[in-house]
Amino acid sequence: MLILTFGWARAITLWPFVIFKNKSVSVNPTTLSHEAIHCMQQIEILFVAVLIYLFIGIFAGLWTWTLFILLLFYVLYFVEWLIKMIKYGSSLAYENISFEREAYDNSNITEYWKQRPVFGWIKYLVL
Ligand SMILES: [Zn+2]
Repeated sequence: MLILTFGWARAITLWPFVIFKNKSVSVNPTTLSHEAIHCMQQIEILFVAVLIYLFIGIFAGLWTWTLFILLLFYVLYFVEWLIKMIKYGSSLAYENISFEREAYDNSNITEYWKQRPVFGWIKYLVL
């Protein structure tokens, strides 16, 4: 946890796992809601990655890049973070990532993860 987040994150979602910094963080409903939103984001991007994987596999015969399926969310997250680093600088880059903006905007709604629109993070995507 500390290695992955450099010590600053209270929790991190690596679907299907959510890792908390400590027990008190894990029972905080706002943090639970925030990480549940990240779970849904990761599941829907995994779904898209599987479709792309099958499409390219069937039509181009390329089946050797399975890791892409598991990493697409993190690639998108990292690329957006890099763009936001250039645009906003290091102190504001993280909070301007679309995945984080959706999660922070709605983490006070306990059941948001159940009712959120599919790909709800896209409306927070401002490059
Ligand atoms: Zn987050």
